[in-house]
Amino acid sequence: MRTSLVALAACAALLAGCETAETTKQGVVGVDRQQRFLVSEKDVEDSAKKQYTAMMADAQKKGALDKDAAQVARVKAIVGRLIPQTAVFRPDATKWAWEAHVLTSSEVNAWCMPGGKMAIYTGLINKLQATDDELAAVMGHEIAHALREHSREQMSQQALTQTAIGLGGALLGIGDMGQSLAGMVANVTMELPKSRTAEKEADDIGIELAARAGYNPQAAISLWQKMEKLAGSQPPKWLSTHPPHADRVADLQNQAQKVMPLYTAAKGSPAAGK
Ligand SMILES: [Zn+2]
Repeated sequence: MRTSLVALAACAALLAGCETAETTKQGVVGVDRQQRFLVSEKDVEDSAKKQYTAMMADAQKKGALDKDAAQVARVKAIVGRLIPQTAVFRPDATKWAWEAHVLTSSEVNAWCMPGGKMAIYTGLINKLQATDDELAAVMGHEIAHALREHSREQMSQQALTQTAIGLGGALLGIGDMGQSLAGMVANVTMELPKSRTAEKEADDIGIELAARAGYNPQAAISLWQKMEKLAGSQPPKWLSTHPPHADRVADLQNQAQKVMPLYTAAKGSPAAGK
């Protein structure tokens, strides 16, 4: 049983480097769960930044970056109203180097990498004929994943699992792990399905961000309904990474009601811009 002993030792060594934290404050929606991290926030953000820069350069080369000035201005205006609201959940986030770009693609997709690097695809905007409120719902949800550091959490779980199963019995040091972070961060953010827990947290925080920014929280419900309607004919890529769960609409309706006063207050204030 030598291999399992080695795996156990590796696991214990990694657990020692484990950090337990709560990434966000609860907000009105009441998200509260301790999270466990193995990789550092800085390492993940640095990797995300590199990946994002490379992806945007590639899109530029292909003529797929920010092609429609009016559409880009619309997206940036919405994101620009959402970002200041992140302070309610984590004050440090307002200082992140947030970025948002529109990618020309038929894919129905949007994402936000750790540290606030976002992309929204023209396929999502056009095929869903998304209203401003609905775009705020989808981007609020994506921003929430970044605030809760769901990608870092998922990467930490992956690293722990890989080490626990032994990887041939070799001790995988944190330093070695850094090497593979760059590939992992993109994979986890854009390709792998998120857990039901992560999805609910992103729904909850996202709807509050949108309401505080003066966007109708009910749009979160119409957005998911449009998304699922589309799923019959041309499955949105977005649904593969953000798997819906049976209670989603009921949960969203419940939270929409809770944050409605925030929306009403924001609508009434001149800062909401409309
Ligand atoms: Zn999600």
